[in-house]
Amino acid sequence: MDPLKKPPRCVVCVKQVPDTKLVTGDAMKPDGTINRAALPAIFNPEDRCALEAALQVRDACGGTVAVVSMGLPSATAILREALFCGADDAYLVTDRRAAASDTLATSYILSRAVAKLEPDLVFCGRQAIDGDTAQVGPQIAEKLGFALVTYVEALTVREGAAYATRNIGGGIEKVRTTLPALFTVTSAFGELRPFNARRIMRYKAAEPTVWNLDDIGADLSRCGRAGSPTNVAKVQSVILAGGDYRAFEPTEEGVRALVGSLVQDHTLG
Ligand SMILES: Cc1cc2nc3c(=O)[nH]c(=O)nc-3n(C[C@H](O)[C@H](O)[C@H](O)COP(=O)(O)OP(=O)(O)OC[C@H]3O[C@@H](n4cnc5c(N)ncnc54)[C@H](O)[C@@H]3O)c2cc1C
Repeated sequence: MDPLKKPPRCVVCVKQVPDTKLVTGDAMKPDGTINRAALPAIFNPEDRCALEAALQVRDACGGTVAVVSMGLPSATAILREALFCGADDAYLVTDRRAAASDTLATSYILSRAVAKLEPDLVFCGRQAIDGDTAQVGPQIAEKLGFALVTYVEALTVREGAAYATRNIGGGIEKVRTTLPALFTVTSAFGELRPFNARRIMRYKAAEPTVWNLDDIGADLSRCGRAGSPTNVAKVQSVILAGGDYRAFEPTEEGVRALVGSLVQDHTLG
C-alpha cells in the first residue's frame, strides 16, 4: 500500500499554561518571574483547536491521534482532558534536565518525542498564551524536515496530501502539501469537542506514557540551559500610568496626528 494513503497518524503538541486571563496584582513575583501558584494552569487555548483539527482528520480518514506535552508532571491534567475528548494516546516528556529550555531547546526536545511516534501530520497551536513566541511549531517542523503550514483554519486530507486554508491577514490562502507535514492552527479552526462521558470513566485515572530525555535519545547539549542560547536580560512589569498615553480621535485628522507622532518618535519610518 502507498505509505501516504494509509490512515494517517496525527500527533498534537499540547502545552499546559497559566491562565493569563486571571492575571492580578500578584501574578508576577518581585524578581519578574511568573508566580505560577497565583494562576490556575489550563490547556493552551489554541492547542485545544489543534486537537480538534486532528480529531476531525481522524473522523474523516481514520487513523490515530496522540497528544504530546513537555512539562511538569502536572501536565497530566491536560493530557487526560485530551483523552476525555477523543485522543487515543498521551505522552509526557518530563525531566529536570529540560528545565530552563528556551524555544530552541523546547522544540528540539519535542521534535525528538514527535519523531518517535512517526506521524504523518503534526498539529501545534499557533501560539502559547504564556511564552507567546509562536516559534515552537515552525522549529519542530524544521528539525524534523517536515513541510510547514502555519495559521491553518481548515484542513482536509486525501490521497496522501493535505489541503489547508491559511489565514494570511486580510485574506486566505489555499495550500496543498505532501505529508509528513506540521500545521499550526488558529482559534478560528473551532472549539474542541466536549468531554465524552464514557471516555471520562475510561481515562479518569489514566497516566500518560512518560519519557525522559534518555528515552527520546536527546543530545543533552541541546536541552535545558545548555541548549538555550536565549539570555533574558531583564523582565519588567510595565504598568501604564495616566501620563503615559495620548488619545487620538478616530477621525482622519486623528489618524494623521497618530502617524505623525509615531514617525517623530522613530516608531515608524
Ligand atoms: C532563557 C529561557 C528560559 C526558560 N526557562 C523555562 C523554564 O525553566 N521552565 C519553563 O516552563 N519555561 C521556560 N522558558 C519558556 C519556554 O522556553 C517556553 O515556554 C517554550 O519554549 C514554549 O515557547 P512559547 O511558550 O513561546 O510557545 P509557542 O511557540 O508560542 O507555542 C506554539 C505551540 O507549540 C507547542 N508547544 C509549545 N511549548 C510546548 C510544550 N512545552 N509542550 C507541548 N507543546 C508545546 C504548542 O502546540 C503551542 O501552541 C524559558 C524561556 C527562556 C527564553
